[in-house]
Amino acid sequence: MNNNVLLDIRDLEVYYGGIHALHAVSLHVNEGEIVSIVGANGAGKSTLLRTIAGDKEKTSGDIIFKGLQLPGMASKVVAKGVSLVPEGRRVFPKLTVKDNLMLGAYVRKDKVQIKKDLEEIIELFPRLGERISQYSGTLSGGEQQMLAVGRALMARPELLCLDEPTLGLAPIIIDELFSKLIRINRDRRQTILLVEQNAYIALETAHRAYVLDTGRILVEGTGKELLNDAFIKESYLGSSK
Ligand code: ATP
Repeated sequence: MNNNVLLDIRDLEVYYGGIHALHAVSLHVNEGEIVSIVGANGAGKSTLLRTIAGDKEKTSGDIIFKGLQLPGMASKVVAKGVSLVPEGRRVFPKLTVKDNLMLGAYVRKDKVQIKKDLEEIIELFPRLGERISQYSGTLSGGEQQMLAVGRALMARPELLCLDEPTLGLAPIIIDELFSKLIRINRDRRQTILLVEQNAYIALETAHRAYVLDTGRILVEGTGKELLNDAFIKESYLGSSK
């Protein structure tokens, strides 16, 4: 394995009571990469991200971030440089767009840089700027997803994790969101780990990807390799696009 590995997961086992959700899952994310995890409903994608984010306890295995084991506690994981955009966005509807964005920076003390980052995020997502004083609950689903991404970026994460960002969004909004993610990765060298049921867009966007099937890693490859793989086409790409 090369030496710019940011996240290295080895033999991860996770259970919900008697349900064995992740079986010996091993994967890695290099600095600067977009890595996608694709898989069907119930494959374990959300469980994987929740366990990385310290929101679900692992039974065994290692989650190594920058050479050290990540603490199994959500607030500490954010402070280590990992931010999660959760499934279903979970923005605070009765707070304004600005307050939601500022919440993302709650672990930071560098006021001047926080202000600059806020301006940068508004430049990246101009519609958030237009709605900066509106309650977040009044935003469309697509705008709420952009807000959830902006909020996660306000923590200045070294690793940005996204759980099913396309859920419930129209195709045109999905394309807009993914073009922003590609821009964030290219211009800010933001490392991204993405779990997604929409295999087509997830593989098209990823440098590398893994297929998760009933809690096990089935295949690994570059996004291009997997897009052109006959088995993946047949099993995962049939209805995506
Ligand atoms: P989806 O796209 O539907 O969110 P997923 O790939 O993210 O699917 P998970 O939600 O991680 O899959 O679920 C993996 C397995 O763990 C499934 O069998 C699911 O039923 C089970 N599971 C998930 N959350 C819980 C929970 N809170 N309690 C019990 N079992 C759970």
